[in-house]
Amino acid sequence: MKAHELAKKVGLPSKEVIKELKKLGVSIKTHMSDIEDDACNLFIEMLREEGKLKEQKTVKKEKSSLDDSSDGLLIPANIAVGQLATMINVNATALIKKLIERDIFANVNQVLKPELAVEVAIELGYDPNLIRVADEKNVIVRTKIKTKGSLSRAPIVTVMGHVDHGKTCLLDAIRNADVAGSEKGSITQHIGAYKVNINKRDVVFIDTPGHEAFTSMRARGAHVTDIIVLVVAADDGIMPQTIEAINHAKAANVPIVVAINKIDKANADAERVKQQLSEQDLTPEEWGGKTVCVEVSAIKKQGLDNLLEMLLLETDILELTVDTSSPAKGTVIESRIDKGKGSVATVIIQEGTLRMGDAFISGMCCGKVRALINDKGKRVHEAGPSTPVEILGFSEAPEIGEGFLAVESEKVAKEMSLRLEAEKHGKRGNAADFSGLKVVSLIIKGDVRGSIEPLCNSLEALSMEKIKVNIIHSGIGSINESDVLLASSSGAIILGFSVHAESGALEIAEKNDVSIRYYSIIYEAVDNIKKLVEGLTEPEYKKVLIGKAEVRQIFKISKTTLICGSYVSEGKIRRDCVATLTREGKPVYQGKISSLRRFKNDAKEVKAELECGIGLDNCKDVQEGDIIEAHVMEKEG
Ligand code: GDP
Repeated sequence: MKAHELAKKVGLPSKEVIKELKKLGVSIKTHMSDIEDDACNLFIEMLREEGKLKEQKTVKKEKSSLDDSSDGLLIPANIAVGQLATMINVNATALIKKLIERDIFANVNQVLKPELAVEVAIELGYDPNLIRVADEKNVIVRTKIKTKGSLSRAPIVTVMGHVDHGKTCLLDAIRNADVAGSEKGSITQHIGAYKVNINKRDVVFIDTPGHEAFTSMRARGAHVTDIIVLVVAADDGIMPQTIEAINHAKAANVPIVVAINKIDKANADAERVKQQLSEQDLTPEEWGGKTVCVEVSAIKKQGLDNLLEMLLLETDILELTVDTSSPAKGTVIESRIDKGKGSVATVIIQEGTLRMGDAFISGMCCGKVRALINDKGKRVHEAGPSTPVEILGFSEAPEIGEGFLAVESEKVAKEMSLRLEAEKHGKRGNAADFSGLKVVSLIIKGDVRGSIEPLCNSLEALSMEKIKVNIIHSGIGSINESDVLLASSSGAIILGFSVHAESGALEIAEKNDVSIRYYSIIYEAVDNIKKLVEGLTEPEYKKVLIGKAEVRQIFKISKTTLICGSYVSEGKIRRDCVATLTREGKPVYQGKISSLRRFKNDAKEVKAELECGIGLDNCKDVQEGDIIEAHVMEKEG
């Protein structure tokens, strides 16, 4: 019998069983190690004597409950394929096919593990509520069989630890050691998480080491991580960030497995690390504590198998299950704008199965799955529980840590996201009106989150006693239609920070009189809004056209920068103005002028009938013959 099977039988965590067996002198390494029958019996006897055999009490009760139900399915310890098929009333071939789907090639006489028998029975439509598992003596050892349609799932692991202790190396080493990952033709790609397969079981690793990602997700209420691998360098010991990581893990109530890394180094001292761990209330198992410590070398690829085994063992204890009948649910772990693909996000699916074409909502973003790409860079049709998958088809880049939910249609997704926005805004708005406050509502779009957050904080800090600055939405990416619609419905001003407005958005903004302002320096934006807040009763700003230029030639000076060789046909073009690019009378781009030059010199302004080079922030689509309209914001009245 394997160690984990024995653990299940006696109702104790595998970890404890292994520890106790070691005390009995049984040589055992992992929960997959085989244990002789004699040793098993001795162990069970010992537990019985010590009164530790947990299942004893529940057995009687459960047995009677089984006796009451005549139509239950009692799966014995060693059940053959044929026997199971008869018991659940299906054709043996159907059952064998189900097993093949799991890469198990069995004949009718093959004996199955009870957990597997249960899972397959459920898959073949057997009611999980009616299944019980028994051991050889027909004593029920497991009655807590999952709710309807639930299955066990792979653990999701986050690696934490002090800087330079080898988190990145360890993640790389594990990834490269994975057989499936190095399959011919498969490209590993960074999508923020990856899956490795060990002993036919999966473990998912979040590929962003460090605790920032973990805490920011937790701050949003997302619980993604099941186990934390705490990396401690054997030559350096516990350092400040190690302690921070321990505290995060404890606060989140997530179990820790310690990887004592760099044991290849001459000055490695694993014992010292264990001593330090004990001082942090993480006493290693071999010292009588509860913490699993594994010695590894990420560089020499030593001890990795053992680490993975220990993670599986921890998983067994956690008994991670998932409701397969639930709609696909997950959490966003990465989000970006891709030049070719648009808004892309990596989501770890935690429940249900996400399929191509499914409509979804994630915070205020919604969309429809246009493509699913797995961690090996392959396009897939669906993604089940505990699967990281890159999703194409978001309306805009969602926030990291945001929840993800598949819904029945795109219409429902849109409605839900609009309702969320309205609710968010409505609540704030009403509160403000009620207390006689004036509210300046803002929508902020930026190119990177690193600039949006400080900007939002500084702007919100501008709130005064009677005037409140209310940021109703912020996000990465260009200003799109939904931003403008939201601004229009809530009377908000849109601030674009090093981003431009999309053509569709411009049309709606024009129609609905939505004000869009562009900035590339935080200070400028804050200063401008400050003036607005302070002088809220003063005349408003209006847009004044100051000149037009015709694009005559396009120079590509780098992959992302285009310069429009232009001729100023009317008025003047100023370096600090906002440019609207129009094609056949329609706006196709709006943004700030990033550079203005006369020959080789920077210019503050260029007057009519002169030629100049105009650089447009982030503008990728310019054609000869396009018109650049320059405008500035001026106080009205
Ligand atoms: P991180 O900051 O925790 O992600 O650490 P890195 O993975 O970037 O590793 C920091 C340094 O430690 C690098 O120079 C690695 O080459 C080195 N390193 C990582 N793991 C090992 C190891 O097992 N043995 C040795 N000798 N060096 C290691």
